[in-house]
Amino acid sequence: MIRLRTPHEPEARTGAKRDLGWSGYKVHLSETCEPDAPHLITHIHTTPAPVNDDAVLEDIHSALAGRDLVPDEHLVDTGYVDAEQIHHARRDHGIDLVGPIGKITNREQVTGGFFDNTHFAVDWDQRQAVCPGGHTSVQWRDAQSHRGTPVTRVRFAERHCGPCELRTSCTNAKSGRNLTLRPRAEHDILQQARVEQDTDHWRRRYGHRADVEGTISQGVQAFGLRRSRYRGLARTRLQHHFTGAAINLARIDAWLTGRPLARTRVSPFAALRPTG
Ligand code: SF4
Repeated sequence: MIRLRTPHEPEARTGAKRDLGWSGYKVHLSETCEPDAPHLITHIHTTPAPVNDDAVLEDIHSALAGRDLVPDEHLVDTGYVDAEQIHHARRDHGIDLVGPIGKITNREQVTGGFFDNTHFAVDWDQRQAVCPGGHTSVQWRDAQSHRGTPVTRVRFAERHCGPCELRTSCTNAKSGRNLTLRPRAEHDILQQARVEQDTDHWRRRYGHRADVEGTISQGVQAFGLRRSRYRGLARTRLQHHFTGAAINLARIDAWLTGRPLARTRVSPFAALRPTG
């Protein structure tokens, strides 16, 4: 994904608050990443800049499906992926969506001293959960999240949590621990994804996504992708399609004439990192 500005708009600010200041458009690039074939752009998707990345994924997949270009696997960055997106991509298009999911930001969870949902055994058929202390939940009810999506709220009894010796790792609530669960399919995906993305196998697999950064760089440096030449979404979109076609032609030419891919630049500081 790259953001760009239109001719009549000031250059966007960078930094932590950049999402608040952006205007113009955003372009999402999809490309192949087979090691033994040229990396070709298969889809370009242009939206107004404020549209969230996860809101365009279904449109991208549908567009790829419409041209019979659905990949088996789609490597995406954090903004595009959560359990719901993985579930829908798999269910609707048979795509295995791969990306870093749901980073835990709570300090206690990061340091491993907190019981998140993965520490609870959930029995969906019996509509109950068992906590790390061995107690069974006393309440299970269907509800909605603040985004309006279906969730399940689970509660453990105050009489169990009050005297529990694991309490400091579990809850501060006086009334007992509460859990919020996503729908079953998404819950299972989330549990599995969090385990998988901690493995070397997953990191190697996901590492191929970094190639698209080279495509963004090529688009910006060689094809002026950062700057829209026209006003209006339709014209900007057309410009992007021409840019994508030009990048593909350049890449096919490089492939046929044996020009290797440029190597990723390693900063002097990164080069100091020990190998192995
Ligand atoms: S605090 Fe409550 S939910 Fe947590 S482990 Fe103890 S009894 Fe179980």
